[in-house]
Amino acid sequence: MATSQPQTPLALFGTDGLIGEEDRAIRDTVRKHVEEKLKPHIADWYESGTVPARELTQELGALGVLGMHLEGYGCAGTSATAYGLACMELEAGDSGLRSLVSVQGSLAMYAIWKHGSDAQKDEWLPRMAKGEAIGCFGLTEPDFGSNPAGMRTRARRDGDDWVLSGNKMWITNGSVADVAVVWAQTDEKIRGFVVPTDTEGFSAPEIKKKMSLRASVTSELVMDDVRLPGDAVLPEVQGLSGPLSCLTEARFGIIFGSLGAARDCLETAIAYAGDREIFDKPLAAYQLTQPELADMSLELGKGMLLALHLGKLKDAGELRPEQVSLGKLNNVREAIAIARECRTILGAAGITLEHPVMRHANNLESVLTYEGTSEVHQLVIGQALTGQAAFR
Ligand SMILES: Cc1cc2nc3c(=O)[nH]c(=O)nc-3n(C[C@H](O)[C@H](O)[C@H](O)COP(=O)(O)OP(=O)(O)OC[C@H]3O[C@@H](n4cnc5c(N)ncnc54)[C@H](O)[C@@H]3O)c2cc1C
Repeated sequence: MATSQPQTPLALFGTDGLIGEEDRAIRDTVRKHVEEKLKPHIADWYESGTVPARELTQELGALGVLGMHLEGYGCAGTSATAYGLACMELEAGDSGLRSLVSVQGSLAMYAIWKHGSDAQKDEWLPRMAKGEAIGCFGLTEPDFGSNPAGMRTRARRDGDDWVLSGNKMWITNGSVADVAVVWAQTDEKIRGFVVPTDTEGFSAPEIKKKMSLRASVTSELVMDDVRLPGDAVLPEVQGLSGPLSCLTEARFGIIFGSLGAARDCLETAIAYAGDREIFDKPLAAYQLTQPELADMSLELGKGMLLALHLGKLKDAGELRPEQVSLGKLNNVREAIAIARECRTILGAAGITLEHPVMRHANNLESVLTYEGTSEVHQLVIGQALTGQAAFR
C-alpha cells in the first residue's frame, strides 16, 4: 500500500534549487523538445541503425543547442552549466543525440572558434550553429585511440598547399559531415586542419554492425592525398594541446549527459516497479527492491551535485582538465551501473526497445570508452594526485 506521494530521485535531492532561473528555463525547453519531438522516434532510429542526421541537426540548430556555450557567430553564449543541463536532457533521450550535439558544438565548432582564423570562423560557425553545416572531429586512428600522440595521419607542405594523408576511425558524424576538423602530424608539431568533406581524396565510409550508439553516425575518414590551401590549417594552436582542449569541452558535457541517461533509466525502473505486481504486490513495495532504488538514487544525486559543482567552476573560468576527469570517470561509471541494474528490475521487458533502459545501457558502453576511457581518466587523476605520469 502506497503511504506517501512518490518523488523523483533528483527532486528528493532538491538539486533544482542549485540551478539559476535562466539555466533552468533553458533546461526545461530542451527537455520539452526531447520529450515531445525526439523520444517518439528514437527507438525506431536505434533499431534500424539509421538517423535522419541532416534534418535532426537543423532541428537542434533551431532549438539553439549547437555551440550554445560559445560567444558570437550566431551562438547563444549561455553558461557552461546551461550547456551541461541541455546535454543531460538530450542524453535522457539518447546518447546519440547528445553525441551529435557534443561533436558539433564542443569538438568541431569549438576547435574553429578557439583555434581558427577569422575567415574559418566566418565561413563555418554561423552555418554550424544553425545546423545547416555538420561538423566532425577526426583525432582517433585505427592504431591510436588512448594515445593520440602516436597518430600516423600526416600533413606535408607542397608549395603553399598542404597535402593530407591517413585514416581516422570511429568518427561521429563522419559520413554526414560537411566539414571535418582533422588532426595530423606535420614536420613541426600536430596541427589541426579544416577540411571541406567534398575535397578530392576525402571519403568517409560509415561503420556498421554497432551494438551501441545505433542512433548516431560513426565513420572512418580516409584521406588519400587531400590537397588543401595553406590557410586550411588552424593557425592558433600547435601540438596535442589543440585536440585536448576540445576534448575537455566535450567531456564536460558528458559529465551531465551521462546522468540524463541514468535518470531516464531510474525513473523508468521506479515507474515499472510501481506497476508490476509480483507475488501479489508491487515490486516497488519489496524490501529487496527499495535498497536498490535508494542506492541508485544516491549515486544519481551525488553525480548531479558533482556536475553542478564542476559547472560552477567552469562558469567561473576555474575548471581544470583533471577535474573534468573526476566528473567523466565518476558519472559515466555510475550511469552505466544504474542502467544495468535498472535493466534487471524490468525483467524480460528490460531487454526490449519498448523501454529505454537497455538502449541507454548499450549506449553508455560507448560513452565509457570515448572522450577518454575510464582507465585514461584514472591515470589523469593518478598523475594529479602523485605527480607521477603512469601512462606508459
Ligand atoms: C561510438 C564512438 C564514437 C566515437 N567518436 C569519435 C570522434 O568523433 N572522434 C574521435 O577522434 N574519436 C572518436 N571515438 C574514438 C574514441 O575516442 C576511442 O575509441 C577512445 O579514445 C579509445 O581508443 P581505442 O578504442 O583505440 O582503445 P585503446 O586505446 O586501444 O584502449 C583499449 C583499452 O586499453 C586501455 N588502456 C589504454 N591505455 C592504457 C594504459 N596506459 N594503461 C592501462 N590501460 C590502458 C583503455 O582504457 C581500454 O580499456 C569514438 C568511439 C566510439 C566508440
